[in-house]
Amino acid sequence: MSYLPASSHDRFVLVTEVGTRDGFQSEKEFIPTETKAELINALIDAGVTSFEATSFVSPRAVPQLADAAKVMELVNRKSGVRLTGLVPNALGAERAAAAKVDMMACFVSASETHCQANLNKSIDGALADYAEFAPIAKQFGIALRGAVATAFGCPFEGDVSIDNVLKIISAYMEGGARHISLGDTTGMATPPVVTRTVEAIRARFPEAIIALHFHNTRGIGLANVMNGLALGVREYESSFGGLGGCPFAPGATGNICTEDLVYLLHECGYETGIDLDKLAAVARHVQEVMHRDLPGQYMKAGARLKLSSLESMRRAVG
Ligand code: ZN
Repeated sequence: MSYLPASSHDRFVLVTEVGTRDGFQSEKEFIPTETKAELINALIDAGVTSFEATSFVSPRAVPQLADAAKVMELVNRKSGVRLTGLVPNALGAERAAAAKVDMMACFVSASETHCQANLNKSIDGALADYAEFAPIAKQFGIALRGAVATAFGCPFEGDVSIDNVLKIISAYMEGGARHISLGDTTGMATPPVVTRTVEAIRARFPEAIIALHFHNTRGIGLANVMNGLALGVREYESSFGGLGGCPFAPGATGNICTEDLVYLLHECGYETGIDLDKLAAVARHVQEVMHRDLPGQYMKAGARLKLSSLESMRRAVG
């Protein structure tokens, strides 16, 4: 199978920006609410149409995202732009519905140990919470998204059981979610692992719309995207500048970088609706906000055909 578009009708790839949730979540210093909304607004202006914008977890558990409702309020809502909020339970679902999210995402780890460490619940406990809040989403006409964390490996347990992954997705679909996101939380995905996981899910749930969420922890995030494209997956989650990380993967670099991903997609002939120059400008702004360099490469190197003049090259010798 080729990684290129199969036909002219198969050119669109949806890029979901997760920087303001997955990226910011592990930041110690509080990022002002206005800045979070400003960044989402700048990305909407750049053509990004899908966001994992924030999380309606307990404000005490994640103080960085305690301003979820306010962020939603400050975003310039536009038709065709989907703002997703992470929801852990019925209380979170009520808050997310009041904040008018377009989609509620549930989050369960395929590894029992990671689920306990990260969510403080068992897999069954997290799924029971989902079963409780899914009807609330339905009641408000809000779409559901089921995220499977550590879908390609767990830092505590190693390879995760595909049965766990399928069991979680089965519960998600039963509750009404069609969108399934597979998270490579600590960067353990490799092309063969992704292939066998996606194929097993498709065999069992052909109606699931699969999105892939890679981290670049071991440097092969975009190689995994190439493989996902060859498998026909047309939605990817990424973070501006490659911001992010995971408290359970020491030294882990973050999510795959949105600008680098969009650059790759455009060079392969896909359309994203995103203006890459504007996107790179937002990523550079995120570096200023964070007061540090981020891993994204495109924003530093610029366009492939932005040619340099010979005179501008500093000579290596002399
Ligand atoms: Zn992530």
